Amino acid sequence: MNDKLKEALEEYLSIIRDLRSHLLDLKEAGFAEVRSPIPDEEPAKGNVELLDKHRIIAIETKPQKPSGSISAIPTSPLLFSGIAPASIFAAHDMEGLKREVLNCKRCPLWRERTNVVFGDGDENADLMFIGEAPGEEEDLQGIPFVGRAGGKLNEMLQKVGISREEVYITNVVKCHPPRNRDPQPSEIDACEPFLIRQIELIKPKLICALGRHAANTLLKTRSSLGRLRGKFYDFHGIKLFVTYHPAFILRNPGLEDRMLADFRRLKAEYDRLRSE
Ligand code: SF4
Repeated sequence: MNDKLKEALEEYLSIIRDLRSHLLDLKEAGFAEVRSPIPDEEPAKGNVELLDKHRIIAIETKPQKPSGSISAIPTSPLLFSGIAPASIFAAHDMEGLKREVLNCKRCPLWRERTNVVFGDGDENADLMFIGEAPGEEEDLQGIPFVGRAGGKLNEMLQKVGISREEVYITNVVKCHPPRNRDPQPSEIDACEPFLIRQIELIKPKLICALGRHAANTLLKTRSSLGRLRGKFYDFHGIKLFVTYHPAFILRNPGLEDRMLADFRRLKAEYDRLRSE
């Protein structure tokens, strides 16, 4: 198989995987029917008709159960002392780590990046947001969450009274995957040590994982976002909250109220932790 064909197949599989998990997330969020927004091509109930993964109408048919308590995910004693990837960069301070990341060629994503997107915000923040990967605008500017998804994140922060300057924002992978595809597991594995070292250095009291990739990477699970979101977890002694990625909300505006409710819970916990 030639390289071009291999790349096309890889991208096709990535889109299918993305679409499948997107549909599973919607299903677990309580949406029983998903159909295309073409009014004169109404699908029969139960059918799934998708013309474009960015144009999905979801129909909610059952209310979601409120979730609350801290989930009992066991704490690994290894994370900040002995986990193998973290130890690779354990000697780096933030500046050293940034230099390392800016020159990184640990996975093939370096070939197509315009800029490495290391992170942005207060390096002493109590609250850290972790997304999936830089988009096109982020790649151009070298700053995370500055495109449309960034605008939605800023809006959510503003609505609950958190300023962007007081938090730290980064992604699981630091280079833009071509054509906005999902990062591959091997790319996530290659980049994760940088994220772990960032968390070690920032020492946040609270982490918010935005979307499935961030949640799955940090919690070492393959659960769908529908199962994970809206709950607090123990991430090696740091509280971790999971919610939607703002890009998902841009594609599914009907879920915006849920994301805002998540952000209100996040803010309440953030205030509580800071007052301790
Ligand atoms: S995505 Fe991460 S591991 Fe891959 S080249 Fe960029 S910085 Fe390196």
